[in-house]
Amino acid sequence: MACHIVMLGPPGAGKGTQAKQLAAARGIPHVSTGDMLREAVQSGTPLGKRVQAVLDSGRLVSDEIVADLVRERLARADAAAGVVLDGFPRTVAQAQTLDALVANGDALVVVDLAVSAADLIRRLSRRRVCQACGTIVALNDDDDDGRQACVECGGALVQRSDDREEVVRERLAVYERSTAPLVGYYRERPTYRPIDGAQAPGAVAGAVAGAIDEAAAVIGQER
Ligand code: ADP
Ligand code: ZN
Repeated sequence: MACHIVMLGPPGAGKGTQAKQLAAARGIPHVSTGDMLREAVQSGTPLGKRVQAVLDSGRLVSDEIVADLVRERLARADAAAGVVLDGFPRTVAQAQTLDALVANGDALVVVDLAVSAADLIRRLSRRRVCQACGTIVALNDDDDDGRQACVECGGALVQRSDDREEVVRERLAVYERSTAPLVGYYRERPTYRPIDGAQAPGAVAGAVAGAIDEAAAVIGQER
């Protein structure tokens, strides 16, 4: 039986950072729909071209496109024990799709990272990504943007095109409208766990690990 971990939360809450670490620690795949969509854009396929315009607007890609990506990804052999889902589901329709995909008895643990809107805007404006290895870094107030290099590989740090302020505001509005209702969808489940995402990354990671252990214990009792 697989146990999938869903990382929920607004853009900039730290889902990507936490999901990556968690997946590495548990030895299961990190499945980020944002990364998959950006890869489609990079590959220049017809799908990628359509997706690029949506990403740059800050809106959501259609439920059908992401559902297809996730369905295919979860069917792969390395997903059999579970994956960390990052950025999916993002709408109630996607959550229903996910419930149908795991209807064979797989468990879902939903970790919801909460961060205030002011913090999110500040974090996203400082977020940079290594062009070579994908490592996410936060610039300090006094960092000179142009002279930063990735600590992991020395690669160039760039700002995601959708982290520009105008797009960030739209992404936060889309989150409130389309993704925040997911909390109501999941809240009554015993495996739903809200976490304070405003803490330092290490503290968040500890809280996430604890929450997953608690939720796993609940699942164990139900079986
Ligand atoms: P963040 O969580 O920081 O907003 P992501 O990398 O998860 O960043 O997503 C970037 C963009 O990719 C979103 O703004 C959206 O346009 C698109 N996207 C990612 N996941 C989904 C999804 N499940 N449904 C629809 N669009 C998505
Ligand atoms: Zn790097």
